[in-house]
Amino acid sequence: MKPKVPVKIVTWEEIVEWSRGLAEVIEKSGWKPDVIIAVARGGYVPARLLCDFLDVTDLLSVQSQHWVEAAKAAEKAILKFPYKLDLSDLKALIVDDIVDTGDTLILARDFVSKEWRPKELKIAALQWISPVAKIKPDYYYLEVKEWIWFQYPWTRLEDTMQFITRIFREDPRTKGRALSIDEIKSLFMEWYGIKPEDLGFYWDLALRRLVEKGVLVKDGEGFRAGRL
Ligand code: AMP
Repeated sequence: MKPKVPVKIVTWEEIVEWSRGLAEVIEKSGWKPDVIIAVARGGYVPARLLCDFLDVTDLLSVQSQHWVEAAKAAEKAILKFPYKLDLSDLKALIVDDIVDTGDTLILARDFVSKEWRPKELKIAALQWISPVAKIKPDYYYLEVKEWIWFQYPWTRLEDTMQFITRIFREDPRTKGRALSIDEIKSLFMEWYGIKPEDLGFYWDLALRRLVEKGVLVKDGEGFRAGRL
């Protein structure tokens, strides 16, 4: 059966490999940035690795945040700390992990080009989901043709907690009763197509945090929904 939300667990090794590949794409183009701008928080690790592979010393950051607009189901991206800089002497490269809708990168690009005014500005991402993205980055390493949630190593805990929470929020089989660990694991595999065991220590940590936050309540050997 097809999972409801297809997930691929991305390893640290893959991140290094993909960042190295992206650096090569940029090098081959003959263009070199003077400064790299990471889009927080997903762009931090790839941006830092690109600094290493491309021999770039200067690393800046802008932070995007997603808001669910009141009365609208759609999310809106905003920039959290819109400080001003003068990059008019520098060639800048904005880096993010993935271009999905593209909203975040459009926002970052428009802000940086208007408020920081770099001499040249390009965009790079490890992955580009081509059928849905509103923009194509100047540089990317992998084109994704079918939407998947890439479970990056830097959001392992956050994602695992959200994955479990969503099951308890949405799956009718969790309503009004406690579930054993095995039942939760089997729903998890059904929903996401990945095995809890593949998440290593993050699985137990996520359950513990959810109990601490009151999202789940321990009930004998199992768990039931708390303040979802
Ligand atoms: P976007 O929809 O392009 O504005 O994406 C915003 C941010 O959400 C990205 O920079 C990622 O950090 C995260 N994100 C969006 N889609 C995915 C996905 N399919 N897999 C993993 N992370 C994602």
